[in-house]
Amino acid sequence: MATLAMPTKKREVVAKSTRRWVYRFDEIDEVQNKVAESWDKTRALLGGKGAGLGDMTRAGVPVPPGFTVTTEACNAYLAEGEQFPDGMWTQAVAALKAVEDQSGKYFGDPKNPLLVSVRSGAKFSMPGMMDTVLNLGLNSEVAEGLTKLSGDERFVYDAYRRLVQMFGSVVMNIADEAFEDYLTEIKSQRAVKSDVELNAADWKQVTQEFLAIFRRETGSEFPQDPYEQLKLAVEAVFKSWNGKRAIDYRNAASIAHDLGTAVNVQMMVFGNMGEGSGTGVAFTRNPATGEKKLFGDYLMNAQGEDVVAGIRTPLPIANLERENPAVYAQFVDIADKLERHYREMQDVEFTIERGKLWMLQTRSGKRTARSAVRIAVEMVTEGLITRQEAVLRVTPQHVTQLLHPQFDDEEKVKAKKAGRMIATGVNASPGAAVGVAAFDADLAEKWGKAKRSVIMVRPETRPDDVHGMLASAGILTSRGGATSHAAVVARQFGVPCVCGAEALNIDVRNRVLTVADTVIHEGDTLSVDGSTGEVFVGEIKRVEPEFSRETQLRTLLAWADEFRRLDVYANADYPADARRAREYGAQGVGLCRTEHMFFQEERLPIVQAMILSEPNSAEEALNLEKLQHFQHDDFYGIFKAMDGQPVIIRLLDPPLHEFMPDHEQLAMHAAGLRLMGDRPNELARVEDLMHAVEGLREFNPMLGLRGVRLGIMRPALSAMQVRALFEAACQLKLEGVDVRPEIMIAVTSHANEVKIMRELIERVAAEVMAKFGVQIVYKVGTMIELPRAAIIANQMAEYSEFFSFGTNDLTQTTFGISRDDAEGKFLLNYVENGVLEDNPFQVLDEDGVGYLIRLAVERGRAVRPDLEVGICGEHGGEPRSIDFCHRVGLDYVSCSPFRVPIARLAAAHAALQA
Ligand code: PEP
Ligand code: MG
Repeated sequence: MATLAMPTKKREVVAKSTRRWVYRFDEIDEVQNKVAESWDKTRALLGGKGAGLGDMTRAGVPVPPGFTVTTEACNAYLAEGEQFPDGMWTQAVAALKAVEDQSGKYFGDPKNPLLVSVRSGAKFSMPGMMDTVLNLGLNSEVAEGLTKLSGDERFVYDAYRRLVQMFGSVVMNIADEAFEDYLTEIKSQRAVKSDVELNAADWKQVTQEFLAIFRRETGSEFPQDPYEQLKLAVEAVFKSWNGKRAIDYRNAASIAHDLGTAVNVQMMVFGNMGEGSGTGVAFTRNPATGEKKLFGDYLMNAQGEDVVAGIRTPLPIANLERENPAVYAQFVDIADKLERHYREMQDVEFTIERGKLWMLQTRSGKRTARSAVRIAVEMVTEGLITRQEAVLRVTPQHVTQLLHPQFDDEEKVKAKKAGRMIATGVNASPGAAVGVAAFDADLAEKWGKAKRSVIMVRPETRPDDVHGMLASAGILTSRGGATSHAAVVARQFGVPCVCGAEALNIDVRNRVLTVADTVIHEGDTLSVDGSTGEVFVGEIKRVEPEFSRETQLRTLLAWADEFRRLDVYANADYPADARRAREYGAQGVGLCRTEHMFFQEERLPIVQAMILSEPNSAEEALNLEKLQHFQHDDFYGIFKAMDGQPVIIRLLDPPLHEFMPDHEQLAMHAAGLRLMGDRPNELARVEDLMHAVEGLREFNPMLGLRGVRLGIMRPALSAMQVRALFEAACQLKLEGVDVRPEIMIAVTSHANEVKIMRELIERVAAEVMAKFGVQIVYKVGTMIELPRAAIIANQMAEYSEFFSFGTNDLTQTTFGISRDDAEGKFLLNYVENGVLEDNPFQVLDEDGVGYLIRLAVERGRAVRPDLEVGICGEHGGEPRSIDFCHRVGLDYVSCSPFRVPIARLAAAHAALQA
């Protein structure tokens, strides 16, 4: 198999003596000069990790000194039959000498030993390769010397046994169980549970046993010569490039097989050298709130693993400020340097060795939506980044998260008084979640998929829990801090999370959670406040977020508005919606679905009576007149709220039976009345209704008498709507309001339909305007929601001043799948099994539906160059679809008021990334 991955062409053999195979971390500038300043090529040569260490060194932060053996050296080694290329080893030894000078310690010197780590590092991070060997440079003699020097025999032999174990398993391929079994055995002999409880003598004994295991398994002694250790470790990294797991990973991740891996050799620093030492992880700003203050956890006298393993509970970084102000001050200074260099919030791993702070790794930190927005905005104010960069750093998903509901404060106070608050933990990922407790990831996923709102409850989470976490509305753990797995994953995906709620006794086996005398069983309801860390039994009511209070988000969106070309409108049916839309930044109403007003309780009986009356009869006229009063008030409110902005009002769309009672229910009601026999009049009324409903029945109502067809068949209904609309507009104009009505016709497929309706609209409009003595500038346009309408868009444009793509229906009719039934029947399965990449009712199908849109825009504008075009289907608030709308040249997108902020940002991204 390995041959598959071998570089195919033999590398050219260059003038070997001058060729550089090794670079110290502080030689990063030289490397970049060599590759013409290309960062990509620097990463290709030094690997991601090596380039990163060089870059950190350049940023002026204290990185333990070291060097990188290049990927070219790896390729040469593999191509030359597993021989180090000429000059490589000499260069590595020279670089190690330089590290000795920088550190003042010497490799293999028992009196003052330098220990190093060896790590692989390809261009792209790649699990499956040999990873890490720590503590190289230790041997039996050095161990004794180091014991004298550090006075800590336990630390030394723990380090030595780790070297033998790691070297044995990763370099010599000894199965790790050989070592782990012995560790388990000695712990049971000593009757202790964890490694930390073993003492110096124990570790000394473990080391002896590990050396014996090494001898038994490999047939040779553990190499006592530190240079021999180093050489073998570097070779092992090179060879691991062609290990089976690495090849499989590259095949799966489409990574080229000829990149090779680099090797990083770096001075070890120890956080477990007594009380002046420690280790931890930290963010340069708060990843939950964005506040510019160091945030993280640390443990004194500990190694990195101790923090991750959760055996000892780490302390918050704020504590370091009190415990060791000098180190804290170093930290603040380094954080500042890192941020100036990377222009991003950083997530760092650090070690304090006897009072000196070392940075081991830095990367841009994962953060919550709130934090992302605050950091982006503040970094602009601090002069670190531009407004464009800030806008691009906040994602539409962040905006969605930020506008998540929160718990109602009063309800929380009540719940606390009632003793329903059972614990508090770390407020790891903000947001308010209510759901039923599920004690494992599989169940959380199962319930989540069945549309139950789930709170996943675990003592702590692990990588194989992620599927359950993603399906949950909230996450609750009893162990772990702000950087625990649960916290990091939850923040990344915007799932509210409280972790480390230590009062909780989570018994996964018996599937109960107990706190004092409260017992919560699986399936019981919990409320989790990820913004405050509070946990409640039962449900707490939530309130919608208040956009007006989101000042930072508003600032960012105002910047986004500077960059976008698309206008953002809102779909709003009522004056209150319109006002909210405007508050959220909408520039108009893109769709007012007038039928929604017909469903209101006091109106529905009038609507039904109107439907039942003979077309063009006096009875119809009477009912329409009653309805007109309501419609007038609705339109008046919306126009007023949108003073100075366009309002697109759609004439009635749905089939009439939607306004009628259900036929089966009527039949049952009639049967009951017949049985009783005492209310003949009521029976007659119900029977009439039943006949009417039967008469309206259609097998395919979505393709039936609806939209413009209904408007043409019941012209008095259309005329009523137009009259109400213009009367409201004229009245407002007289009151000094700037009204900009646009009247939209739905479900059109032939130009004559638009022509007929347009004539009706113009006639009624003229009548009303004459009556009021007022001129209103208005537009008439059509929806494009049937394929034929898109294809003959040039004909449609002759009678339309605007098009609005109704992509809900256009998707339904282009795919020929029902928007009401498909999802439950097969569509979600299609998406799950990859038949379709996305649900086309959520993400616009560019190839099919998008083709029709493109065509209609082209054909429409060919006839009418100033044709206004927009979208009002659900896709108008979906970021990828908005990007398409930008590319295809629409004038606006229209979406629900809550999605307006998302659309504003997505439209800016589309423009900035075009
Ligand atoms: C559409 O079809 O996309 C549309 C906006 O109209 P409705 O959803 O009301 O059918
Ligand atoms: Mg529609």
